[in-house]
Amino acid sequence: MDFSDVIGQERIIKSLQNTIKNESIGHGYIFEGKKGIGKTMMAKIFSKALLCKEKGINPCGVCNSCIKFESFNHPDFHMEKPLGKSFKKEQIEDIQRGIRVLPYEGDRKIFIISDADKMTISAQNSFLKSLEEPPKDTIIIMMVENTKNLLPTIISRSQRLKFTPIRNDKIQDYLNKKYNIDKDKAHMIADFSRGNIGRAREICESEEFNQIRESLIDVINNNIGTDSFKSFTNSDFFENNKDEIDNVLDMMLVWFRDLLIYKETNNNELIINRDKEELLKEQSFKLSMDKIHDIINCIMETEENIRANVNFQLAIELMLLKFQEV
Ligand SMILES: [Zn+2]
Repeated sequence: MDFSDVIGQERIIKSLQNTIKNESIGHGYIFEGKKGIGKTMMAKIFSKALLCKEKGINPCGVCNSCIKFESFNHPDFHMEKPLGKSFKKEQIEDIQRGIRVLPYEGDRKIFIISDADKMTISAQNSFLKSLEEPPKDTIIIMMVENTKNLLPTIISRSQRLKFTPIRNDKIQDYLNKKYNIDKDKAHMIADFSRGNIGRAREICESEEFNQIRESLIDVINNNIGTDSFKSFTNSDFFENNKDEIDNVLDMMLVWFRDLLIYKETNNNELIINRDKEELLKEQSFKLSMDKIHDIINCIMETEENIRANVNFQLAIELMLLKFQEV
């Protein structure tokens, strides 16, 4: 495993490799980005390179250190997760004791702090000391979804690297090779993943995603009348898939956007549900442009309501009610 195995994130790879080349490695890093975007993989490869005996911009993969790293057996590499819902001060103090110990193998040791944004304020205040006066041999990589829960003093003491969504075609290529799935399906999944490689993998490996998608498409299809969207008459489907509601609403939104695009352009290159082109074509005759727009707005509103913690049942019923007015 080295930097060439990472999909996308070229800017970050370049920046990390430059710090190795210029020997300007910092003591504190913040890797910021959504879960699944590739922070852990990047942090591991960076760590492996920093610990490698060859000291190149890519880990050599054959030295003693690389071999130990690959067998999860490197004494100078530490990965820390919160022991409960958050990092408490005591756990951070334990980690800090580890930070004060000299490296066993070479001249460096590395600590990756997963979910660093889950440090309590007193944990962060305590951890700050390690960033202010780090032992020369220590590199700390904090991984966060976003920095809004971190103390400004923690952020300012670290080099902050933001992970961005990966281009669709790159995810497609990856899915194609790894899972041997056809082009249309890879395209659909890459779109659904919104540039998140972990999410794309999860969708590929999850039976549930496919099941929900198929039954949702069924539900939609059964409810589209000849000239109106009669709407789902009950909320069972949504109630049964409550835990997956973000995905369900997302799938709905994508479906109706596809309908709109198909109706407007007749071009299947632009749609996401390409494997369902026939069905989209059929449905696009049954709904007017205005109605599709209204439905889309309605779904977006429901997404917002659910994000804003409006009662689940209420949000769904409101949506169904509005569908009937469409
Ligand atoms: Zn090596």
